This record gives sequence, structure tokens and C-alpha cells, in this order.
Amino acid sequence: MSSSLHLPPSMSPLLMLEPVGRAWENIMKSYSPATIEFAGTLIVQLVFFWGPCAIYLSLDKLFPRFSERHKIQPAPKQPTRSEILDCLGVVLKNQIISTALHGLLIYISTLTGKGAFRVEASLPSLHEIVRDLIFSLLLREALFYYSHRVLHHPRLYPKIHKIHHRFTAPVALAAQYAHPIEQIVANILPITIPPQLLNSHILTFWIFMAYELIETTTVHSGYDFFLNAAKMHDLHHEKFLIYFGAIGVLDWFHGTDGSKMAAKRKAKGAVAGKGVSQNKVDAGVKGEKSD
Ligand SMILES: [Zn+2]
Ligand SMILES: [Zn+2]
Repeated sequence: MSSSLHLPPSMSPLLMLEPVGRAWENIMKSYSPATIEFAGTLIVQLVFFWGPCAIYLSLDKLFPRFSERHKIQPAPKQPTRSEILDCLGVVLKNQIISTALHGLLIYISTLTGKGAFRVEASLPSLHEIVRDLIFSLLLREALFYYSHRVLHHPRLYPKIHKIHHRFTAPVALAAQYAHPIEQIVANILPITIPPQLLNSHILTFWIFMAYELIETTTVHSGYDFFLNAAKMHDLHHEKFLIYFGAIGVLDWFHGTDGSKMAAKRKAKGAVAGKGVSQNKVDAGVKGEKSD
């Protein structure tokens, strides 16, 4: 049976899921690689972005006491209903733009014959999946950290990144509340470039994309779930000047993690207020209200 699936000799975790292998083979027989890449990526976006968003956003309606207990920032700082509706419109617009761009890139790749990902009947091995995920995770951190810091440059911040910082107490949907340039440069490219460099299997890319979408909605959720995974990015939205990365390694390396900043301010003692002003200039938020 398994020989008909065109599986590689190396072990794949998906081999353990025979129905998955069979379903994948049927999909490959029924649709073109371009259709599979476009439709599959859209489905991953719909399920793993809108799914967590719906869960996080409905918590305060369905379980208000539970929600209040786990919210990182207090109720008065939470966004209003109209702000969330505005957020919904911006996110929909961004996703339409990114989906259209993806469609265009796939169309170009069909003309050139060079696809960004491997869309093939063979399933990736466990070794390949783990290798690609680790590499993609680390490179995504670097691309996100540095593009994010560039967006905090005083010349770019007011025009582009200030939009994303409108939510000082973020909600999951605010993960893609951004200027279209930021959506492409800081949100999409750091996730798509690493697996493209590796010419990853499309299934590996979808696993990575699903993980990153769950991660970004969780760190914007405003809740302390999953060992307070949202704490760092929530602090970035609240304070602007700290935690530019997602994992925290580059924040530690560059001294932009919260503890080092606090120690610096403490050392400055009486002139702490002056130090904060300078930090705000560095962050590109000079003269911007933080509410
Ligand atoms: Zn920022
Ligand atoms: Zn954010």
C-alpha cells in the first residue's frame, strides 16, 4: 500500500498517519502544484490566524471572570469595540493584499518553472522537517528583530509602525493590524524567506506558518497563557522600547530586554526621566502619545 504513496525511504512522522499520506497523494493527483500552494496557504492562514483570534477575542464574552483573571493589562487599558472593528477592517485589507501578492508570485513561478517550495507527492522526512523548522525559526527571529528595529527609526515610525502600536494593550487580531509595508516586511517575509531559502517541502512550510500564526496571535492576545508567552511582546506594545524580538535571544544580545533596560535606568538614578526621553527618541516615538 505504502509504495503507491511515493514515500521516501527515510522515516517521516506523516508515515505514522497513513490517512494523511493517502489524502496528500489524492490532493497531488487532483490539483496542480500552484493551486495546492495557493489554496493550502490560504487555508492555513484562515484556520491558524482566525481560529486563535476567534478563541481569544470571545473569551471575555464567554468567560468574563476567567478572562479578567488572565489579562496582562487592566480593563481600562483594553481596546474598545469600535477599535476592534477598525482592527478587523485593516487586518482583512492586509490579508487580501498578501493573498493577491502570493497569487501573483505563484503565477510568475509557473511561467519561470521555479517554485519557492517543493510541492511533490513525496513526504518530507522527520529529519528534514525538524532541520527546516529550527533553521526557519532562528532566521525568522533575526529578520523580524532587525526589520522591527528599523521600523522604530524616527523617520519610519510615524509613517508606518505607529499604526501597529495603536494597541498599547494588544488583542490577538492586532497581530496583523499594520501598515501594508509592515505587513509585508516584518510579518510575511520573515516567515516565508527562511523556508524558501531551504526550498522546503510545502507541508513543512505550512507547519512553520501555522506555528508562527499561533505564536503571533498568542503574543498579541493580552493573556498570560502558555507560561506568559505574551509578556514580552505585550510589554513592547505598552512601553515601546523593549523586546523587539519574538524569542528573546537578540533582545538579550543587544540589551533591549526589559531587565537590562531597568538596570540601566536604576543606575542613572535621578536622571532616569531624561534617559527614558532619549530611549523614546531611539524608539522613534518622540512626541508620540503612548495611549
Ligand atoms: Zn514596535
Ligand atoms: Zn505587535
